[in-house]
Amino acid sequence: MTDKRMLLVFAHPDDESFGMGATIARYADEGAQIDLICATNGDAGTVDAEDLDGYDSVAELRVAELMCAAEMLGLHHVYRFNYRDSGMAGSPDNDHPDALVKADREELVGRIVRVIREVRPQVVVTFDAYGAYGHPDHILMHETTVAAYHIAGDPNCYPEQLADGLEPYQPQRLYAVSRGRVEQLTLRMGILWMRLRGQDPRRVGRNKDIDFVAVAEHHYPAHAQINVRRYLEAWNEASGCHSSQGGGLGSMLPNWAQRLVFGHQMFTQLAPPPTSGRAVRDLFEGLPCRRPAHVSRLSVVPQEVWAQCCGLVDLTPCRAIGVNVTFDFSRYQDYDRPE
Ligand SMILES: [Zn+2]
Repeated sequence: MTDKRMLLVFAHPDDESFGMGATIARYADEGAQIDLICATNGDAGTVDAEDLDGYDSVAELRVAELMCAAEMLGLHHVYRFNYRDSGMAGSPDNDHPDALVKADREELVGRIVRVIREVRPQVVVTFDAYGAYGHPDHILMHETTVAAYHIAGDPNCYPEQLADGLEPYQPQRLYAVSRGRVEQLTLRMGILWMRLRGQDPRRVGRNKDIDFVAVAEHHYPAHAQINVRRYLEAWNEASGCHSSQGGGLGSMLPNWAQRLVFGHQMFTQLAPPPTSGRAVRDLFEGLPCRRPAHVSRLSVVPQEVWAQCCGLVDLTPCRAIGVNVTFDFSRYQDYDRPE
């Protein structure tokens, strides 16, 4: 029995599978509770007419694909925020009043904070600062998740949620999905190959709006390296659920090449700042994942107590953004407060 909980915060149906599907499959298989926030229903995705057979709308199809992947990966629950997809920069989809990029930021951060307080994950995972390939929805979800991570433990933030019975909660680690050296090398070789063939690597994809050169330039350090070789099949199956979006591409490679390129998934630690120069092999490494026996009600557990359990304490990022970090020791009479 494990008490590991991970919250994934992404923008679109398919982000969960394409980016880190194998890692999700591994942790779910190991008994972790993995919840997902998916901000949009994929309404503005480009799909072939035959994919829409049996569906009333693109959104209905994309949500069905998401639920298929959620089942394949073993997700615990999908929180759908029901915004409308935005497109790449300059797309007319960005002018739609329901577009995610038009969302009220404070409200969006509050919705993420609410889910953090409900799920109480030790680990939160989102996009990197470039949103993997510059998609405005991805970048927005990165920025709002970083903000939510830092304030979810502050009772002064979104106090109306406390009136609803939720309690402040500070997750212990925030990661972004990253790329490993082999993936980065593959990307660079792909750019070279495109140039040799006279193609423009700055205008890639169905809508020619992805810039591979900029993607390669936004390569963030890997602080966690997760071995997922045993979960590539589950990853392919979950990606295959998103067939309207070209899912299951990895299956085009032979097994040995899949293991080489995709055998490890990389994550950048956004908070707290990583303390060691080596990449950890487990997103939960060093974190207390079992409720201490003498805590009857896990709520605002003092960070110092977590530190006592696992040797990890770093409030620097919270202080840096001016969040008032306070802990209520009086509710934990049972604890021997660390000196
Ligand atoms: Zn996306």
